[in-house]
Amino acid sequence: MEHKDLLDALHVDPALVTGGDLEVTSPIDGSVLGSVQQDTAASVSEKVALAVGAFTKWRAVPGPRRGELVRLLGEELRTHKDELGRLVSIEAGKILEEGKGEVQEMIDICDFAVGLSRQLYGLTIASERPGHAMRETWQPLGPVGVISAFNFPVAVWSWNTALALVCGDPVIWKPSEKTPLTALACQALFLRAAERFGDAPDGLSQIIIGAADVGEAMVDDPRLPLISATGSCAMGRKVAPRVASRFGRTLLELGGNNAIIIAPTADLDLALRGITFGAVGTAGQRCTSTRRLIVHESIYDTVIARLKKAYEAVTVGNPLEGSLVGPLIDKQSFDGMEAALKKARAEGGTVHGGGRVLDDSLPKAWYARPAFVEMPKQAGVMVEETFAPIMYVVKYKTFEEAIALQNAVPQGLSSSIFTNDVREAETFLSATGSDCGIANVNIGTSGAEIGGAFGGEKETGGGRESGSDAWKIYMRRQTSTVNYSTELPLAQGIKFDI
Ligand code: NAD
Repeated sequence: MEHKDLLDALHVDPALVTGGDLEVTSPIDGSVLGSVQQDTAASVSEKVALAVGAFTKWRAVPGPRRGELVRLLGEELRTHKDELGRLVSIEAGKILEEGKGEVQEMIDICDFAVGLSRQLYGLTIASERPGHAMRETWQPLGPVGVISAFNFPVAVWSWNTALALVCGDPVIWKPSEKTPLTALACQALFLRAAERFGDAPDGLSQIIIGAADVGEAMVDDPRLPLISATGSCAMGRKVAPRVASRFGRTLLELGGNNAIIIAPTADLDLALRGITFGAVGTAGQRCTSTRRLIVHESIYDTVIARLKKAYEAVTVGNPLEGSLVGPLIDKQSFDGMEAALKKARAEGGTVHGGGRVLDDSLPKAWYARPAFVEMPKQAGVMVEETFAPIMYVVKYKTFEEAIALQNAVPQGLSSSIFTNDVREAETFLSATGSDCGIANVNIGTSGAEIGGAFGGEKETGGGRESGSDAWKIYMRRQTSTVNYSTELPLAQGIKFDI
């Protein structure tokens, strides 16, 4: 199906994707997919006002009823999984399998949120005063601003939106300026769900199109009590202090520099599969992509030989036609990859792979062969995140050294160890092990399920979204004490009699 037929099948109004001032291209071949109209600071303000109005109505709707809207959204996503998955592939360049996987993740979080809508549990707490009852409840917070990255163009919206909606909050979403079409498709599916729902207020879900300037208008708006921002550490470094200066909350999902440790007892068949999916999957454009490999010296040569074979076997090409690795998002991304490889060579690295391919047949697209680089030590370019398929490899001698290397980067998103030694596995997951938000044993760094809280520490931003109790950030906590006695005893036994 052509992208126009897909947009049609996804119920996107054709007027929204033509005649605008922002051209949208496909990284697959550089072709123009349409043009969308960008927002301005003034239109952002109007949309926020509409969301505030929606909030006053939506917060009063019972949680399980709010869950019904998310159930209907999940149904729309199920019905349109293939079309939306394909549009993700066309707009973001992921292989079809991953495009559809991203939509499946949206369906999963909707299912999770529907159950959650009946489980927004608070606490009852023992009061120290006679005839008093104490409790803690969770109330809707207000409109949530969501800013997302190009590489998960639709899933990040759903992780936030499914939870925010059942928590009683409207959502205003600014997708990446590189992927507005899939956002318009999500909004169209949301509107279908809302129509079937019947009485969802206007402005419960809205889209803001544009780049950092309109993002900043959201970030500075005090009517958005929570800004959930996914993207680079550089973006987070700008957004976090601005939101903090108005005492807003942030949920930050920023860059990663994820490592796998390969211990002497590792099952190398498993490890190689985990490494290649993590390092070359999504053309290295996942926040959880494997960027560092820390290999025990006793198996180093074997691992390098097997990596060479695996990297040579990987197919790079049109993601709609069965290749395992699609294009980089744009020229800037390819230039970033080249610059990192150059730096790695200058730092003593031996580069395997890399380089542009398919430039003859697809001159407007940026396909690269994935690269891995043997580094003499972990330093320089290896401690930075380059959002491309580059993995750096270093040796280690002792397990303590491996953990220290794993932790010695500014980012703290995902990590893993391949080992069959239970002492190493448990130590890796202990207080003295990995310092990341995600720590895995005998699976790679990427490909999380929605059931757990997702996010990372240090420069990754500290946010958690998706499963577990991540919903709590979308709500305001209220502690209440009720006196059902005829006395007014004060806490801590304080006497204050007049
Ligand atoms: P990016 O930082 O360039 O852009 C992300 C979003 O932020 C875009 O919508 C962009 O318009 C917006 N933005 C940029 N500057 C802004 C500002 N000053 N104020 C408000 N909004 C602003 O990132 P990208 O290139 O789209 O995505 C790749 C990056 O995202 C990588 O670093 C990757 O690790 C990270 N990422 C992290 C996660 C996670 O969950 N931790 C998930 C996906 C991507």
